[in-house]
Amino acid sequence: MGQSTTKSRRDFLKKSAVASVAAATLGSAPRVVSAASSVLPNKKADGPLVISSRNGQQSVLKAMELIQGGADALEAVVAGVNLVEEDPNDTSVGYGGAPNALGIVQLDAAVMHGPTGRAGSVACIEGIKYPSKVAKLVLERTDHVNLVGKGAQDFAVMHGFPVENLLTEQAREMWVRWRENLSNRDEYLPPHDPSDAIIGSDYVPQKRSWGTIHCSAIDLAGNISSVTTTSGMAFKIPGRVGDSPIIGAGLYCDNEVGAAGSTGRGEANLETLASFLIVERMREGDSPEAACLFACKRISDHTKVAHLLDENGRPNFNVQFYALNTAGEVGGAEIWGGNGKFAAANSEGGFLVDLAALYTRD
Ligand code: ASP
Repeated sequence: MGQSTTKSRRDFLKKSAVASVAAATLGSAPRVVSAASSVLPNKKADGPLVISSRNGQQSVLKAMELIQGGADALEAVVAGVNLVEEDPNDTSVGYGGAPNALGIVQLDAAVMHGPTGRAGSVACIEGIKYPSKVAKLVLERTDHVNLVGKGAQDFAVMHGFPVENLLTEQAREMWVRWRENLSNRDEYLPPHDPSDAIIGSDYVPQKRSWGTIHCSAIDLAGNISSVTTTSGMAFKIPGRVGDSPIIGAGLYCDNEVGAAGSTGRGEANLETLASFLIVERMREGDSPEAACLFACKRISDHTKVAHLLDENGRPNFNVQFYALNTAGEVGGAEIWGGNGKFAAANSEGGFLVDLAALYTRD
């Protein structure tokens, strides 16, 4: 993606002279920043910034290193999440991701590029290790936004991607265990009343794994871009599309405002388009953290069917949001939390930031 449509920030460029401090901290224990302030140590520092879900601690450093070398934010965030997509031990993203109910790995990814306002995404793509790269190509080399299934795979092959077996032994064994222990609590719902509580999946983390990586960044030119990539909900119904590849749900960015992305129960996010909501709240003046909390509350208010509620009428699932704004602030929140954190990096290195929580368990 070209970098011609940049809004220039001289002070950002000055920062480019600063050598790659991020690289120096790679592998060292990240600092933890309190969510109470919801700001970085260099609040309003005019420099590049990267955020990610917690599984992206190496991704934010990679993206920051590229940005400090002059990369566009989109190029940087995609290269950052590629590290997780190719990691066979992360069973929530890309290669090694948990398969669907039939044992087939189907991946979702989306990207958004602030300076051009363009977006690209792929959903239910099979056999392609780097769905985020394909989403970037949809943005750059088509006049469309979303490609799904076989069409998405054909498009990737056209651009030289090999079709590979993405099901690792670890993920296959997870799937077999799940398959052998099926209960009546899955995603195929028999006829039921909205007040039926004992129906559908129980989202107990030990039973169903979730995971995704979201990454957003501001580059040296002050441009913002975002990516979200995932294998989606483990053992999902084949063909299920989550929030990650849906622009406005799994991610949203606006070069004049900021960016937001999410992980967690995608269905809740699809019904509220919460990443778009967060960016709009920030446009109205909310801090990133306040905007993320607003989205959590919106999902909580929106959730009405009994099988998705706990005994106190609160959602029985979790969703996390991560956001940054053009002022150089970051913030995040989750519906259920207390200990959650997300990854970030500025020109001084990588660190973890506390996620605010809408509800905590005693
Ligand atoms: N949001 C993803 C989805 O619903 C899953 C996750 O983040 O764990 O597909």
